[in-house]
Amino acid sequence: MSLTYRPRRLRRTSTLRQMVRETALRTDDLIAPLFIVEGHGLVRPISSMPGQAQLSVDQLDREIDQLMELRVPAVLLFGIPAHKDANGSAAWDPQGPVPSAIRAIKQRAPDMAVIADVCLCEYTDHGHCGVLSPAPGSGDVLNDPTLDLLARAAAAYADAGADIVAPSAMMDGQVAAIRAALDRGGYLNVPIMAYAAKFASAFYGPFREAAESTPQFGDRRAYQMDPANGREALREMALDAAEGADLLMVKPAGAYLDIIHAVRERYDLPLAAYQVSGEYAMLKAAVQNGWLDERRAAMESLLGIKRAGADLIITYYAKQAARWIAEE
Ligand SMILES: [Zn+2]
Repeated sequence: MSLTYRPRRLRRTSTLRQMVRETALRTDDLIAPLFIVEGHGLVRPISSMPGQAQLSVDQLDREIDQLMELRVPAVLLFGIPAHKDANGSAAWDPQGPVPSAIRAIKQRAPDMAVIADVCLCEYTDHGHCGVLSPAPGSGDVLNDPTLDLLARAAAAYADAGADIVAPSAMMDGQVAAIRAALDRGGYLNVPIMAYAAKFASAFYGPFREAAESTPQFGDRRAYQMDPANGREALREMALDAAEGADLLMVKPAGAYLDIIHAVRERYDLPLAAYQVSGEYAMLKAAVQNGWLDERRAAMESLLGIKRAGADLIITYYAKQAARWIAEE
């Protein structure tokens, strides 16, 4: 049969397929999240996230050396303090886990881009991302009083040498508050990566074990986004862009590819997507059961995020993916 267009013509050989491949995952796209725990000599594996561990600052060198060797350009830091309180004051302690880690990493690997997550949930004794209303039993997370605390934390990370700060609390106005604080502190050139659309997702489960940030009561649906809302995600992007975000982010990634695509179409800012702990855990669990080929499934999941429009992917697969990319 004579057909004008036979798509299989260009699928015939590996070289032809390579030549017409539209999307490529690069090592430069990858950002590796790290959990920094206060203390010494600590390497605590996270059971629901095989291959990931909480590390104390003195245990970071090996991890950073591996990432540098694999050419992963950036890390995203989360801190687990020894002491928590109602306001999460350890978040802006210059001797806290994240500022200490930033200094250690910059000393070990000056070229590594260090991104500091800015939130309070790992630092508050109640596990919410902001300060609580004093009204008995209300459980309300107060927006505006939280902004000052997030701004203090962001300034402390910039002061320690962070290359980028990344507010993730989903408080209204957090990007503007942090931009103002950074500028006041003289950190005019420290960019903000805004968790602009962060959904109240079930896929964060393993992270909460990793970051010890499970809310002691209630959930985060009064500040994180409803998973059903796509248009609202675009309004969140517009707000954060107007407030001075330098990079935008969608979190999680896998169940929100349509949002990533829509943001890519509408905004020119660099876009990151966070392949979260639950996405990683699902892949790992299936792999451990022998149900999936890890390399193919993980790389396909990352490629899908990239094809949807993400420039950068925050993923627990960063090291493995970098190795696989190098082998290709
Ligand atoms: Zn939080």
